[in-house]
Amino acid sequence: MSQPNLDRRLEHLTTTAKEAGVKLTHQRLEIFREIVLSAEHPDAETIFRAVQKRVPTVSLDTVYRTLWKLHDLGLVTTLGPQRDRVRFDANLDPHHHYICVQCGLVRDFESSELDGLRLPEAVSQLGTIMNAHVEVRGLCSRCQQRLPTQTPNSNQQSQSVP
Ligand SMILES: [Zn+2]
Ligand SMILES: [Zn+2]
Repeated sequence: MSQPNLDRRLEHLTTTAKEAGVKLTHQRLEIFREIVLSAEHPDAETIFRAVQKRVPTVSLDTVYRTLWKLHDLGLVTTLGPQRDRVRFDANLDPHHHYICVQCGLVRDFESSELDGLRLPEAVSQLGTIMNAHVEVRGLCSRCQQRLPTQTPNSNQQSQSVP
């Protein structure tokens, strides 16, 4: 995350919060900064642990409430199915995700080609379209290195057998 980018997002946060009449406390600012500066698409507990180092008085409850407040203001988006651990993303520019199925690593990538993706007619029949992004799933290079060396012919299928 470059400094101009951080400044731009903080400025957007300040304007949006002001317009919505939301008070930007020190804790709220720190929580937002943490998501902006992280490339990890962190979940609430990860954000909590990081912010706690700088602001020891912060509570997990405050972090949760702030995150959903930021979400209501349209300042962060969430990732993936909302079942177990919701992850937050402050990158509001069009982008796509690479997700490691093993360790849960999430990384942004950009592609003007994918931004201009033409969606099939069938999608508009399901409902309105707000945006679309591509989610690439795979094994990140770190997880791949941790795999036991395999014979060339063994494939992932044999691994997924319980
Ligand atoms: Zn991984
Ligand atoms: Zn992202």
